[in-house]
Amino acid sequence: MNVFSGLDLIDSHVHLDIPPLAGDQPGAISRAEKAGVCQIITIGIDLASSKRNVELAKQFSQVYAAVGIHPHDAKGASNEAYKELLELAGIPNVVAWGEIGLDFVKEYSPRDIQRKVFCQQIQMARRVDLPVIIHDRDAHVETVEILRKEAAGTLRGVMHCFSGDVKLAKKVLDLGFFISVTGVVTFPKAEVVKEVVRYVPLERLLIETDSPFLSPVPYRGKPNEPARVVHVAEEIARIKEVPLEEVARCTSANARDLFRLPVP
Ligand SMILES: [Zn+2]
Ligand SMILES: [Zn+2]
Repeated sequence: MNVFSGLDLIDSHVHLDIPPLAGDQPGAISRAEKAGVCQIITIGIDLASSKRNVELAKQFSQVYAAVGIHPHDAKGASNEAYKELLELAGIPNVVAWGEIGLDFVKEYSPRDIQRKVFCQQIQMARRVDLPVIIHDRDAHVETVEILRKEAAGTLRGVMHCFSGDVKLAKKVLDLGFFISVTGVVTFPKAEVVKEVVRYVPLERLLIETDSPFLSPVPYRGKPNEPARVVHVAEEIARIKEVPLEEVARCTSANARDLFRLPVP
């Protein structure tokens, strides 16, 4: 538990290697620590980014890494990249495969390639026994279908930056997955996400900043950083009418369970 704030928070999804965060990693990590963020998971989006994040996890004891290829970068996937990712997956403090999934909003990679690369990475995560971090934008039905088909109860994971409704949340919970929410939940018009938070039991929720993106209220429009995950926890506490400490304790226990993190 952090001596400064008395809280025990985990930011389960950060991109420490993306600017402007990339330019101030030690500063962002120490401000997070002061804000009660005891552990941070920094997420890969392609092979180069996965390598950078693994290096950070070696350098900072409270930082853990996820390796994988984001749907935006699916067109860059290759057998050589997979081989290197599988090697990275075996390094201590690499705790998840991600982020992987489908993004039908931006479509930087063609949909059929996104599907293929998503399925291939699910199989690799199973092979190395790592949980998966799923990115799904406007591809709800297909994402759940693929997870059901490819993983069928043998894979653990989290649907990050959850953007679906309660109906989708139920399907994701039925798969045994966790649901993670970002600072979007603090936006006044984010009624659907607030409704999802009301519905999902605290035992199945994770919190994240997705920094440097998606700054919560009152920092909207500015670059985000892990210290601000407390605003996500506060909004969940308000919605669920439970103490902030309980949200912190529970979401951290969930993250430690899913990613097999030690208690600091
Ligand atoms: Zn994402
Ligand atoms: Zn992300």
